[in-house]
Amino acid sequence: MKTKEVIKTARELAKPFRVTKGKNFRLKDIDPDDTLDFTKEEHKSTAKEALATGVMALAELQDKLYAQDKWAVLLIFQAMDAAGKDGAIKHVMSGINPQGCQVYSFKSPSAEDLDHDYLWRCMKCLPNRGHIGIFNRSYYEEVLVVRVHPEFLAKAKLPPKLIGKSIWQERYEDISNFEQYLGRNGIIVRKFFLHVSKKEQKQRFLGRIEDPLKNWKFSSNDASERDYWDDYMKAYEEMIQETATKYAPWYVVPANNKWFTRVVVALAVIDALASLDLAYPKVDESKLKELAAAKKKLLS
Ligand code: ATP
Ligand code: MG
Repeated sequence: MKTKEVIKTARELAKPFRVTKGKNFRLKDIDPDDTLDFTKEEHKSTAKEALATGVMALAELQDKLYAQDKWAVLLIFQAMDAAGKDGAIKHVMSGINPQGCQVYSFKSPSAEDLDHDYLWRCMKCLPNRGHIGIFNRSYYEEVLVVRVHPEFLAKAKLPPKLIGKSIWQERYEDISNFEQYLGRNGIIVRKFFLHVSKKEQKQRFLGRIEDPLKNWKFSSNDASERDYWDDYMKAYEEMIQETATKYAPWYVVPANNKWFTRVVVALAVIDALASLDLAYPKVDESKLKELAAAKKKLLS
């Protein structure tokens, strides 16, 4: 497949999962088991092929992004534990030039982080022009885990007067404004919620507990967070409703089948890059003369 065709296919296949207007979004409308037309039997070869073709197209687009050095792309990944964030990031980015890509993981905030506004630690990690930046978790935790566990809000050192009923609404607004600001500065934002079911998460946790090579991936905190599953789903749904925009869409990606998740993420990233006017910088007259002179010297 030519890159042009890949781009067209990418746009079509990623579309059902893209949310640009949240008003009518309902999480229950996205089935974590969905795999579109890829049937289970043929998935291995078809998905592998799609991913390989996608990764190649992605590499080509990234090369232009880097050479042009004007736009930047910020990819945000949010999900419940074991939904496959790490694997999706690893596979999708496998073909791209590491020089043009930065990945940051945001865990519980440090004392220094808490001494600042909540966007601070993320702002420091925004991608340079020409680069793809990946946030493994992000400032969205501030309307997710912090909402589900209000004790985190208490730790945030905010003036108590500023913690009112409308705090979540204010955060959605501030985040959307921030993302619009980024867009207007040439940093385009794409956000992924990997949507795994509670049942599938249980299976993956059991897998991590039973396989010695995966034990390191499991923490007992992961299991206790399951008790808050419904609260998290509510928080995710509202977050998507309130922060899905044209300039920073959410992709709600079915995540019960890892191979499918990876294909959708790759296609969405291709679509994002293809939406930019990427091109290799044009060489001007004086540069051409310079090149001709260098060639002459090398050949003499
Ligand atoms: P993995 O488990 O795959 O290694 P992870 O992203 O879950 O990756 P962990 O170290 O397990 O990494 O967890 C990070 C934890 O930090 C998550 O539980 C997340 O909710 C929490 N966290 C992230 N940002 C914040 C925040 N702003 N306030 C409070 N907790 C946060
Ligand atoms: Mg974890």
